[in-house]
Amino acid sequence: MMEKDTHNLLINGEFVPAASGETFTTFDPATEEPLAEVAKGAQDDVNRAVESGREAFDKWRAMPPEKRGRLLTQLAEAIRDDIDRLSELETQDNGKPLSQARADVEGCARYFEYYAGIADKIHGNSIPLTHDYTDYTVREPLGVTGQIIPWNFPINLVGRTVAPALAAGNVAVAKPAEQTPLSALEVGKIALDVGFPPGVFNVVPGFGADAGAALASHPDVNGISFTGSVVTGQQVAKLATDNVTPVHLELGGKSPNVVFPDADLDVALNETITAIFGTNAGQVCSAGSRLLVHEEIHDVFIDKLVERTAELSLGAGIDDPAVGPLVSIDQYEKVQKYVDIGRSEVGEPIVGGDVLDRKGYFVEPTIFDDVDNDMRIAQEEIFGPVLSVVEFKDDDEAIELANDVDYGLVAGIFTTDVGRAHRFARDVNAGQIYVNEWFAGGVETPFGGYKQSGFGREKGLEAIESYTQVKNVCFKIDR
Ligand code: ADP
Ligand code: MG
Repeated sequence: MMEKDTHNLLINGEFVPAASGETFTTFDPATEEPLAEVAKGAQDDVNRAVESGREAFDKWRAMPPEKRGRLLTQLAEAIRDDIDRLSELETQDNGKPLSQARADVEGCARYFEYYAGIADKIHGNSIPLTHDYTDYTVREPLGVTGQIIPWNFPINLVGRTVAPALAAGNVAVAKPAEQTPLSALEVGKIALDVGFPPGVFNVVPGFGADAGAALASHPDVNGISFTGSVVTGQQVAKLATDNVTPVHLELGGKSPNVVFPDADLDVALNETITAIFGTNAGQVCSAGSRLLVHEEIHDVFIDKLVERTAELSLGAGIDDPAVGPLVSIDQYEKVQKYVDIGRSEVGEPIVGGDVLDRKGYFVEPTIFDDVDNDMRIAQEEIFGPVLSVVEFKDDDEAIELANDVDYGLVAGIFTTDVGRAHRFARDVNAGQIYVNEWFAGGVETPFGGYKQSGFGREKGLEAIESYTQVKNVCFKIDR
């Protein structure tokens, strides 16, 4: 079904067309058909949104924090009440299997709920600066914050980036990705419905080069949260630096999933599939895209993995298969290109790799075995259902291989040897270490990268630090 009404920008509590009057089309990647028309935000619209945020900021930060928190709680509840509609919309816009979209919507609600609880618990310290002073710190909001959001977890990342910003007393201008703009607008609408004041939560869809760059370079934006590719992150950081605007970057990964012979191999097998195929068709920054397998179990583990991978169902997200289509034609072509690169580097994939003769941006779950860690398919982020398998012989080599990439987002180990797991956690350079479960953690656990995977932390209480600045107040006692 085609929906042809234009989805307008949310600025200052109203849904408005772009200043230019232009719109763009978002597509359903399962059918390649247009899904909706969306107002195409650009510089003028970002200016309006930032201005409205600036006006809303003083009142929002001065609102009793428990009241701010209560609004966040109400938003969380209203998102949950609407989960059926929101998950279907997310599936249509992004392509992901319906049950995964549902988990993302629930996650979005959970972020608002989690940060609702901290709104009235953000406080500073008192510092014992000798008898003659009274010294204390306060944590203050940054002001107007911009959230530049990618297409892989559209609604979930609205929660992850906007909820801590608002809880800490900032206002938000969110810029969803041009491939998947619809769910962010819906969350903004629900926020209005539950009583958020106009201008506190703006949503300006548009293309990266105009709406995104306008937000990153806006002199009246006081903080930027960016999630996306390394190259775009570098551009965003450069733009923000011209105004000395703080940025945190959550970029890509080429994360090692390390399986030892002493692991529970059934668990490792299930988690390996979840890590690269069973979650958003591998379009996840924290995908387990490099499987490092000990030589002793390599053959038996890989045989089972191939068997299970070949059985994964592929289909339109709305039918809730194991693997849905990729988000766009561009992403499809990029991933197919890497399959060709893999073929030239290491030969035929041991499963998958066929070009499918069907509508929709479907890519078969694909595995390349006997990959050398120096190859491009072991070093570069593919962002699709393509797994590179590298063999290792002992702990030293596993750790060396795990670290031998430019990225450092996550790393996982499967073992029942506690000492081995602790050593891995100590010696591997990544922002998250998973032991015996991939994607272990929750909204409560800090998330972010080492090395080229970025800096700054989202999720957990750490996110509040990214969204506040510290003021020290020092009194001299002169009597
Ligand atoms: P991809 O290349 O897979 O689309 P990006 O990292 O480019 O991923 O996109 C992530 C987000 O960054 C999207 O919201 C996109 O619109 C935005 N974006 C892209 N280019 C720029 C840019 N030059 N400045 C600011 N934001 C951008
Ligand atoms: Mg779409």
